Amino acid sequence: MYYVPDGTDRCGFYECKECGNRFLDLKIVPSMVCPYCGEEPDMELGPDDEMPDTMESATLLKVLEGEEVEEYDTLLSLAITGGDFNWI
Ligand SMILES: [Zn+2]
Repeated sequence: MYYVPDGTDRCGFYECKECGNRFLDLKIVPSMVCPYCGEEPDMELGPDDEMPDTMESATLLKVLEGEEVEEYDTLLSLAITGGDFNWI
């Protein structure tokens, strides 16, 4: 498994509308910060600093369960090396 640990039976399938990356994540939320182009909040900011806006540009396309998890993980990791997302 490339995106999620072996034995994962439920995960989210996301697409980033900024950079177009598709990926799997154990978290299942409507949208999240893209791990490829998004910025995590800077934890070194003091309490008086303004919280930076985080862009949750990756949105949940589908919740994958059971065999789908391994199927999508394999196809997505192949798509990285093959560079073709058209199979979806
Ligand atoms: Zn992105």
